Amino acid sequence: MSFKMTHEQELARKIALEFAEREIIPHRDKLRVEDEEFEEQLAVKEAKAGFHLAMIPRDEGGTGLGQVGRVVMEEELSAAYPRMVSSLHREFAYVFAKATGGVVKEKWMPLILKGEASAAPFINEPQGGSDLMNYTTTARRDGDDWIINGRKCFISDGHKVEFGMILLKTGDPKDPATRGARSMTAFIVEEDMPGYKVERVEKSMAGNLTATVSFTDVRVPGNYIVPPGVGRGISPVFLAVWDVGRMGISAMLLGCILGSCRSSIQFAKERVLYGKPIHDLQAIKHRIADMYIDLAASRALTYRAAWLRDQGMNSSQEQSIAKYYCTQAAIRASLHAINIHGGSGVMDEYMPQMYYRYAPCLIAGGGTDEIMKDTIAASAINGANPVMGANPAETSGFYIL
Ligand SMILES: Cc1cc2nc3c(=O)[nH]c(=O)nc-3n(C[C@H](O)[C@H](O)[C@H](O)COP(=O)(O)OP(=O)(O)OC[C@H]3O[C@@H](n4cnc5c(N)ncnc54)[C@H](O)[C@@H]3O)c2cc1C
Repeated sequence: MSFKMTHEQELARKIALEFAEREIIPHRDKLRVEDEEFEEQLAVKEAKAGFHLAMIPRDEGGTGLGQVGRVVMEEELSAAYPRMVSSLHREFAYVFAKATGGVVKEKWMPLILKGEASAAPFINEPQGGSDLMNYTTTARRDGDDWIINGRKCFISDGHKVEFGMILLKTGDPKDPATRGARSMTAFIVEEDMPGYKVERVEKSMAGNLTATVSFTDVRVPGNYIVPPGVGRGISPVFLAVWDVGRMGISAMLLGCILGSCRSSIQFAKERVLYGKPIHDLQAIKHRIADMYIDLAASRALTYRAAWLRDQGMNSSQEQSIAKYYCTQAAIRASLHAINIHGGSGVMDEYMPQMYYRYAPCLIAGGGTDEIMKDTIAASAINGANPVMGANPAETSGFYIL
C-alpha cells in the first residue's frame, strides 16, 4: 500500500500554497471585513489558476488531478483563510452537467471549463432538513415540460450560482410505485428561469452566505431531468453531495486544522515567557502534539476516501467518516490554537478565532454529525450504503443528507 503522493499531487499542493501566499495571506484583512469586491476578484483568480479543473479528466478539458489533488489544493487554500473555496461551486457545476448530459452538458461545459459557471445542490427545505420525506417542493408534468413549485433554504451561495440540481417530489403518496424514495426526482434549474427567485440571504457566524430560493411555476424542459430519471433522483444528487460536498468540506476542515497548527507553531516560537519561547513549556508542546495527531488522522481519512474515488470505488462510508472526524478535529485543533495564543487567540487580527468560528459552520452542510454517524452505521450494519443499495430506505421516510 503506497501512501506517497504522486508528483502531480505534490505539485498541486505547491501551486495552491504559492497561490495562497501570494493572493490570500497578505490580504486576510480584506477577507475578514468581507470586502465583496476583493472576494470576487479572488474567485476570478482561483478560476484562472484552474483549481476547479482537478475533478475534470484531461480528455474533457480538465487537469485530471482527481479527488486527492483537489483535496490537497482546497486544504491549502482554506488553511490560508477558512471560507467556502470558490472551486467547490464550479466542481458542483461540472458534476451536475456531466450527470445530466445532453443539452445541459452542451450548454454549460464551455463555461465550466473557463471557470465561469458555478452551481449548488438545492436539497434542503425549511420543514424537512434531514428528513427528506417531509419535503414539499414538487414538479408536475405539463406536456414535455415540468412545472416546479416550492422553496429551498440554506443553499450555499445560492444567490450567486448560475444553476443547481434540485431534488423534489414527483410521486403520488397514494401510489406504492411512486412513494418513498421513488417519489424523488432531480432536475437542473437555472437562475434565469422565470419564477426562480432568491428570497433571502443569510450569513453564518463565520461570514459564509446561504440563500433561500423559491420556485413559483418554474417551467423546466423534460431533458433537464437528471438520469436515471423520474423517481430516481436521490442517487445522482447524493453522489454529487458526497463527491463534491463532503470531500470538499473535509478539505476545508483539514485547512482549519493545518492553519491552526501553522499559526500555533509560529506563535509558540515567537512568544517569549520566562526568558524562553513558550514551545519549551510542556503543556504547550502537548497541545501542539494533539493538533498534529488530529492533522495526521484527518488527512489519512480524507486522502483515503479521495483515493478510493480516484480508483473508481464507492467511498461513501469513508467520506462520511472523514467529514465527521475532520469536523470534530478542526474544532479541537482551533480551540488548542486559541489557547496557545493566549488572549491574542480571540482577537480579530489573529487567525485561531477564525478557524474556530468556521469549523462548526461546516457541521450541517452535507449532513449533520448525527446523519454522518447514521450513514456510517448503516454501511457497517448493511454492508451497503442505504441510498445506493436496496434496503428499507426505499419505502420509508429517511434522512441521509
Ligand atoms: C453553512 C451551510 C451550508 C449549506 N449548504 C447547503 C447547500 O448548498 N444545499 C443544500 O441543499 N443544503 C445546504 N445546507 C443545509 C444542510 O444540508 C442542512 O442544514 C442539514 O441537512 C441539516 O438540516 P437542518 O438544518 O434542517 O437540521 P435538522 O435536520 O432539523 O436537524 C436538527 C437536529 O436533529 C438531528 N437529527 C436529524 N435527523 C436525525 C436522526 N435521524 N437521528 C438523530 N438526529 C437527527 C440533526 O443532526 C440536528 O442535530 C447548508 C447548511 C449550512 C449550515
